[in-house]
Amino acid sequence: MSLTDELYRETILDHYHQPRNQGEIPDATVKIEGVNPLCGDEITLYFNVNDKTLSDVKINSHGCSINTASGSIMTECVKGQSLDNVKEVVDTFKSMMLTKGDDTELPEELEDLECLRGVKKYPVRIKCALLPWNTLQQGLERLQNGKTNSSDQYVEK
Ligand code: ZN
Repeated sequence: MSLTDELYRETILDHYHQPRNQGEIPDATVKIEGVNPLCGDEITLYFNVNDKTLSDVKINSHGCSINTASGSIMTECVKGQSLDNVKEVVDTFKSMMLTKGDDTELPEELEDLECLRGVKKYPVRIKCALLPWNTLQQGLERLQNGKTNSSDQYVEK
């Protein structure tokens, strides 16, 4: 294992053991569950939208280390961002994880996502890393379509 791999592994474990923005938001604008049956990862995502900004986000993760770390890093990348920026961040991350090869460049403010790039070596774990992001994307889409309710759920297939 190279030194960089080792550093990335430490970053993932750090977010796994001390996940950021864990918990729930009572009366959140959107509450949506995300499930990845392949691994057993389950999350509940809460976020508030004010003035087209993702003003607050919290996540309750019950999943593997990659799932929990990815959700933790995601909340740090999107909290306080405009919805347009949030969509761009989600697209950038998904493109990094789903594009074959390693050519997706991350802007400096997203360099924390770099540690998850190594997950691409383990195809079954990619869904673990993507679950929080796909759940956020679904929540935003449902909000845009005015179709959110407290039992919303997103399931990875
Ligand atoms: Zn998992």
